[in-house]
Amino acid sequence: MLRRNLLVDDITQGKLDPVVLDELAASLWPQDCQTCEWSLGDGQCALVVDVMAYMAHASIHHPKCSEPNWNDSGYHKVTSGPLISWVAVGTIIPAAVNGDQISYIPGVIVNPSLEMVNLGLGKDGRWELSTLTRVRESGFEPPMEGMKIGTPVRDSHLVITPTSWRVIIPGSIETYEVSPEPQMTKLVAKTKAILAIVTQAADPGALRPETMPSVMSSKHTLVGWVPLYEP
Ligand SMILES: [Zn+2]
Repeated sequence: MLRRNLLVDDITQGKLDPVVLDELAASLWPQDCQTCEWSLGDGQCALVVDVMAYMAHASIHHPKCSEPNWNDSGYHKVTSGPLISWVAVGTIIPAAVNGDQISYIPGVIVNPSLEMVNLGLGKDGRWELSTLTRVRESGFEPPMEGMKIGTPVRDSHLVITPTSWRVIIPGSIETYEVSPEPQMTKLVAKTKAILAIVTQAADPGALRPETMPSVMSSKHTLVGWVPLYEP
């Protein structure tokens, strides 16, 4: 979301590096208020950071539902997982194969957490974004470090049903369900896998082709080759 639409209290501004605050704003996508569950709309959102020792959840709320604040009181409203929205969309990705030959591979773009970002306290005592840490530990990698097309990520699966794709990504508790175009599923018959792009740098449902390069170069984007589950 736009930084100017994010209401941040003075304590949070003091705790977080301005660069991290900008990254945080750029990784939050207003969908549902994390207090009342109603749509956040286009207005301003209040940033609430709940701190638990070395980690924290930063979430967005209607300003009338929750004031912006840095909560390290030890008392936390239990974050209701179902309140957090995720978005997954199927896509076809052009990939260069053998020099200038272009081949098309099926893929899915997932944002696992639109309204909440995890923070971790680094060794240097600074807070940094850590939402995708577990996905990275499971074998997903930044696209800039090379996409290992053909090398499956362990414990990841694509299940194809008559009407959908179900994508299982290790390190994530959700199963991401996608309604693909028929030609995407035809491509999977050839590749026997899809490229999963997991990002907090976009709302995949509102992604435009021209913003794709910035998503792929974001440090909050990871990719992995997810194999087709064949019983
Ligand atoms: Zn609300």
